[in-house]
Amino acid sequence: MLSVILPAYNEEKMIAVAAETLAGILDEAGIEFELLFVNDGSKDRTWEEICAARERDGRVCGVCFSRNFGKEAAMFAGLEKARGDCCVVLDCDLQHPPEKIVEMYRLWEQGYEVVEGIKHDRGEESLFHRFAAGSFYGLISRATGIDMASSSDFKLLDRKVVDTLNAMPERNVFFRALSFWVGFKKTEVTYDVRERTAGESKWSTRALVKYAITNIGSFSSMPLHLVTVFGIITLIISIVFSVVALVQKLNGTALGGFTTVIILLLFIGSVMMISLGIIGYYIARIYDEIKGRPRYIIEEFRG
Ligand code: UDP
Ligand code: MG
Repeated sequence: MLSVILPAYNEEKMIAVAAETLAGILDEAGIEFELLFVNDGSKDRTWEEICAARERDGRVCGVCFSRNFGKEAAMFAGLEKARGDCCVVLDCDLQHPPEKIVEMYRLWEQGYEVVEGIKHDRGEESLFHRFAAGSFYGLISRATGIDMASSSDFKLLDRKVVDTLNAMPERNVFFRALSFWVGFKKTEVTYDVRERTAGESKWSTRALVKYAITNIGSFSSMPLHLVTVFGIITLIISIVFSVVALVQKLNGTALGGFTTVIILLLFIGSVMMISLGIIGYYIARIYDEIKGRPRYIIEEFRG
């Protein structure tokens, strides 16, 4: 059986459409399936729509969070509840073309364990968004050692991979990169990102920046090494200035260094503050992990 996981946040207009489209496509292909909607603390009628869809078709299941925990949490809740031999994660706004699921499923039948959906074209995006996404993927690709520029959350995972992901104790997870990180027999399908047909994108610029920082933090300790680099740069500068100061002292021209002192003081102060901030950020992450709070809280489950 195939489990289709659909995270939904304020998607009341899309639930029925998504359920019907997917059921149509998968029935036609003769694939046995369940549709697992995860209501990520929506403020509209998303949950009611999911329940209604379940009444129409018993293969629709629903998980309801107690509040908004974010798309990552929603995807992991779906993976935990899924009963299929393989799982597909897909946006319920249908921007990921559902027909591709059949292609992915056939590849799975041939023995592939991870089928990545690769964006052929990123769709309509502003120039700023394009630039920000470019820098983010540049960093994360270097951190993971994998080219992630056109990766997405649209992918099919075998039961083995799902169990591996479920067994991971991390709280702060980045699904897209983890599925690369775990390895397994992998292949790709490319797809074109579609326009949204109803509702609107849930990602504000602020949310995207936060998402980028969290994900870099959870996949890379590079910023910590940056602190050492800062230290080395300041050391080099201080050696140069020490030599200059000593020479001036020996020449008897060492007066009037006030400007230099102020500049150096401010410079060293800010480098130290930035370094402390970076270290503090990682300590905060350790604190978050050590508290061991659940990634999400399920209020209701239908299935
Ligand atoms: N989503 C979610 N929780 C959130 C934000 C988004 O479950 O906090 C879901 C949303 O319902 C959709 C998918 O994640 O199914 C992608 O969101 P969206 O379409 O807003 O992102 P975009 O396509 O603009 O990147
Ligand atoms: Mg979308």
